[in-house]
Amino acid sequence: MIVRKSRAELEAMREGGRITASCLKMLAENVRPGVTTGELDRLAEDFIYDHGGKPEFKGYQGFPASICASPNAMIVHGIPGSYRLAEGDIISLDVGVRYEGFVTDSATTVPVGEVPERVVGLLETTRECLAAATEQMRSGKRLGDVGHAIQSLAESRGYGVVRDLISHGVGRQMHEDPQIPNYGRPGTGARLLPGMTFAIEPMITLGDYGIVLDEEDHWSIYTSDGSLSAHFEHTIAVTEDGPWVLTRNGGPGG
Ligand code: MG
Ligand code: MG
Repeated sequence: MIVRKSRAELEAMREGGRITASCLKMLAENVRPGVTTGELDRLAEDFIYDHGGKPEFKGYQGFPASICASPNAMIVHGIPGSYRLAEGDIISLDVGVRYEGFVTDSATTVPVGEVPERVVGLLETTRECLAAATEQMRSGKRLGDVGHAIQSLAESRGYGVVRDLISHGVGRQMHEDPQIPNYGRPGTGARLLPGMTFAIEPMITLGDYGIVLDEEDHWSIYTSDGSLSAHFEHTIAVTEDGPWVLTRNGGPGG
């Protein structure tokens, strides 16, 4: 069942979304060669508590940290730790904040120093995929329209769309119904209605879309062909007035 939120609930999510957005912006500003992902995690955790939120990822199904930090061929769910960012890396930073009973979930992928042109293109395209999906988040549209917007843009530029990880409903729980593939056929799937809130998160690769789970930490997920992967995410509400991006605050992530 897709839970619809009242206007007052959306306003509460928007307040939490501001914290999430500001946290991601702060993290992106701290990305530089030599910084460890563990240091970024501590910065985020302090930031979230200082702003009256709670880091939703920490303890989620046993996840040990407040953010996910996933460099290069790691797609998502990287555990922050001793990994030290190096010039030319890209890093997906994913933040979830609980505030006044609601969760907002957002991610961005940033370059560490200079990266090659084709990697800039991957980041740009993934950001544009999220924007194209956002444009579909209107009452009367269908989930297949959202997935199709992502898939058609990414594939038209020769990139891979990860199939086995999905966008999702979000609200009182971090993962609510429905599950939303980042690919699809227009005019299919559940119909969008005002008050629905979704975390839309295209994961786009320079290669194929196969994935592999890290057998040691059982969290990190990589591209199976070792290709670079980018990941952008916003929490977005469907309203009578069109899409409302709850986690945009002048921060990165488009
Ligand atoms: Mg996320
Ligand atoms: Mg998410």
